[in-house]
Amino acid sequence: MDRGERDRGESQEQLTGRYAQLQRELAQIGYVCSGSVMQLYRTCGKPGCGCRVDPRLRHGPYYIWTRKENGKTVTRSLSKEHAERCAEYILNRRKMEKIVEEMKVVSTQIVEAGR
Ligand SMILES: [Zn+2]
Repeated sequence: MDRGERDRGESQEQLTGRYAQLQRELAQIGYVCSGSVMQLYRTCGKPGCGCRVDPRLRHGPYYIWTRKENGKTVTRSLSKEHAERCAEYILNRRKMEKIVEEMKVVSTQIVEAGR
């Protein structure tokens, strides 16, 4: 037996059960987005505006979504509502990736256990 085989000590049945659970979790995932959403406050150049001297007078918040597309950074300005949705979709994507990683682990264990 190779080292690492059945390292969790789970039976084939337990593994297939766990995989089915992951499939159900994956099916529940909503929309998925990449990148990140930032909330920014800005200063302006208007004479007499206090934003440069008092941080509380800065303008905003502005919601900025950045993501990579074909190796390039794409930046979009979003409304508050869309920024909140986008942030949720980003969390969904992270959750999805975690589930897929776990599916790979369980699949590997199933193949290893069946050798
Ligand atoms: Zn200003």
